[in-house]
Amino acid sequence: MPARATKRGAERTSLDVDCDVLVCGASFAGLTVARALEGSGARVMVLDRYEIGERQTSACAAPTEWLERLGLASSVRQTFDELVVHTPRSSVRWSLPFTFSTFDYAELCALLRAGGRSSEFETATVAGFADGGVATDRGTIRASYVVDALGWRRVLSSAPSPIQPPNARLSRGLEVHPAGNGEDMEFWIDRRYIRAGYAWSFPAGEELRVGVGSFEPRDHVKVPTLALAAELDLQAGSFQGNWIPHKLRAATENGVFFVGDSAGHCLPLTAEGIRPAFYFALALGRELRAALAGHSTREQALARYGAFSRRHAPQFGFMLWAQHLAGRTTGRAPLNWLVERFDSRRLSHWVFERYYRITPPPAHEWPVTPAEALLAGR
Ligand SMILES: Cc1cc2nc3c(=O)[nH]c(=O)nc-3n(C[C@H](O)[C@H](O)[C@H](O)COP(=O)(O)OP(=O)(O)OC[C@H]3O[C@@H](n4cnc5c(N)ncnc54)[C@H](O)[C@@H]3O)c2cc1C
Repeated sequence: MPARATKRGAERTSLDVDCDVLVCGASFAGLTVARALEGSGARVMVLDRYEIGERQTSACAAPTEWLERLGLASSVRQTFDELVVHTPRSSVRWSLPFTFSTFDYAELCALLRAGGRSSEFETATVAGFADGGVATDRGTIRASYVVDALGWRRVLSSAPSPIQPPNARLSRGLEVHPAGNGEDMEFWIDRRYIRAGYAWSFPAGEELRVGVGSFEPRDHVKVPTLALAAELDLQAGSFQGNWIPHKLRAATENGVFFVGDSAGHCLPLTAEGIRPAFYFALALGRELRAALAGHSTREQALARYGAFSRRHAPQFGFMLWAQHLAGRTTGRAPLNWLVERFDSRRLSHWVFERYYRITPPPAHEWPVTPAEALLAGR
């Protein structure tokens, strides 16, 4: 985990700002929205409680094609064209029709930030709405368009009951990043580690990202994460974890645009949330640009983006159903049998092609700005 870089004490001056677009959250979803607004001429402000790239929020594996299309390939550490899946009775290689890559979180965030550098960035903690604007620990910010890309807490929701684990529809994930290396992206579907969920090890150059995810929010993941690290003969070190929304939520509410984990845009079963965060952030960027250019109203932008997100409900619903099923059969004979069937390249490609199409990559490569090219060493 990187050293804390966020400004403290006297360096945290007060903020009282009016802007066109306020993007709350500067991770995958928020930085992509800001970048999609580059060149729009709008005053865009981005907020996060930490400096950009300071706090890694995931194991950081995403489809390589997505990283390439967004001009983020220089952050890649390792690429995999198959998954190795272990059950209590066998280990199977699943061939993929596309590749996954692990990447460096700070580098990827810096690249996204370079692409949206005409937006302003401030470290501030967002608390909710007050005094006609978004209240932060540094003051109130007013904006015509407010984006909540703050992750699972959905801080800017006006719903009366806040999303609180363990009762809310959330999974949980925890991992450690010991030094080491490996060739394979590995998963364990085994009740020795977790009753409903899976464990993983993702090599990323000089480190491994080893963790456990539980579909059941009441089940703890620290002890099994330590057990897996010990079995792999790794020094566990410091932990990184979070709650993972596994149900699609409304993408607009009370005039606010929600994107990424705040909108439940994380695929159930696999907990793949980076690619969907990019995908829905690009869609939101398109709607915001159209509205800022006067081609649509704010209400139309809200309605169109909300409808776009809702159109994915059947696929997210199917994935949630599969998660419930997998959760009930983790490590048991029927699931082990199914895992073994995926050693058929035809079957695994057929399934993963459909899975990939839930949030397909953009048709064209994102034009790379000079600042991004410099960072990427091109
Ligand atoms: C252990 C683990 C491993 C994972 N591995 C993968 C993986 O390999 N691949 C994958 O696709 N998905 C993975 N996921 C899921 C993925 O991390 C999320 O879906 C993804 O991070 C969502 O991106 P986001 O931008 O919506 O939110 P986040 O990445 O959570 O970013 C939210 C941002 O908002 C900021 N923030 C939060 N609250 C406030 C506040 N009140 N004020 C100001 N700022 C605030 C945070 O600092 C953060 O920068 C994993 C999840 C976990 C828990």
